[in-house]
Amino acid sequence: MNLLTAACTNCGRVYPLDGIPYKCPSCGGVFDIPQPLPYDANQIDSSQPGIWRYRHTFGLPDGAEAVSLGEGNTPLQWAEVMGRQVAFKCEYLNPTGSFKDRGSSVITGYLKSRGVHEVVEDSSGNAGASLAAYSARAGIQARIFVPASASGPKLKQIEYFGADVVPVQGSRGDVTCAVLKEAEKGIVYASHAYLPFNIPGYATAAYEIIEQMGTIPSAVIAPCGQGGLLLGLARGFDAIRPSGKSIQMPKVIGVQARACAPMWVLSTAGMTGMGFVTEGQTLAEGVKVKNPVRGDALLRAVKSTQGFFVAVDEEDILRGRDELARCGFYIEPTSALAWNALEQVIDKLADPIVVMLTGSGYKSTV
Ligand SMILES: [Zn+2]
Repeated sequence: MNLLTAACTNCGRVYPLDGIPYKCPSCGGVFDIPQPLPYDANQIDSSQPGIWRYRHTFGLPDGAEAVSLGEGNTPLQWAEVMGRQVAFKCEYLNPTGSFKDRGSSVITGYLKSRGVHEVVEDSSGNAGASLAAYSARAGIQARIFVPASASGPKLKQIEYFGADVVPVQGSRGDVTCAVLKEAEKGIVYASHAYLPFNIPGYATAAYEIIEQMGTIPSAVIAPCGQGGLLLGLARGFDAIRPSGKSIQMPKVIGVQARACAPMWVLSTAGMTGMGFVTEGQTLAEGVKVKNPVRGDALLRAVKSTQGFFVAVDEEDILRGRDELARCGFYIEPTSALAWNALEQVIDKLADPIVVMLTGSGYKSTV
């Protein structure tokens, strides 16, 4: 098994063997996995379902149990849109209705291998619902902190999966403060944003895309909040690159709602523009992240693919959802950002293009 070693991106401290700190105990930096993902076509285990065929890339200990609900191996559906054939990766068909299951499956496998029985997390969205499901599967008790104002199908999902829901009065920032207080008491903060162990799970989408297409697409378009999916795609494509050949791998293109578009601002206006980033109201609730934890790494990863970021106006979101629904894709507003992004960039991109449809329309309240 290829053990991956996480290290602090600030001081280089290696991830400890004891405990599950969500950030570096020495300097407060973010942990990441610095080495390339060890993709090896000869090590793909076809006897395993979905993402677990690529288990050798996850960095899990040999004895780690696969915590699986059948995630991955999602359909790649072609449709004629804007006069072109475009491939849509139906991530909304994962077990809890979002791409997050790829990461949750790997991260709960990791936590279980480390003897964790209880975790806390803050999310009233897809990440919370997904972690609640995989925690239930792994026998880990999850406590999910959510804004007191949160409601809707995603919150119901979290409750049904048996997680304890802790409503917190105040802003989204107040919810994070509350969960950090629990983490300081020593309870594992299974953060989808801070812990890096879910990123190899997201990378499996890149392997699947190339296997399913039988070729290398020119670009992959995906919504961007914390950016875990984009990082996974960029690293996955890098890992699967044919060795010794300078082949252009897909451009990874991140899409944000203009109401809260820090990565788009950072990539177009630089750090000087960051002071103007707002956390405005948007229907694309899944990408409303003003300060992505891995913003630096994300910018580097996307640029390394010759990709970029796109911002979508609010009035174009539901129109995009409806256009995609008329192709037969039932997705939530956050995923619908991809439609207008495609309109903005399709003329600049060669065929074939892949669009990630990240979350199910069944979770939507609008
Ligand atoms: Zn450090």
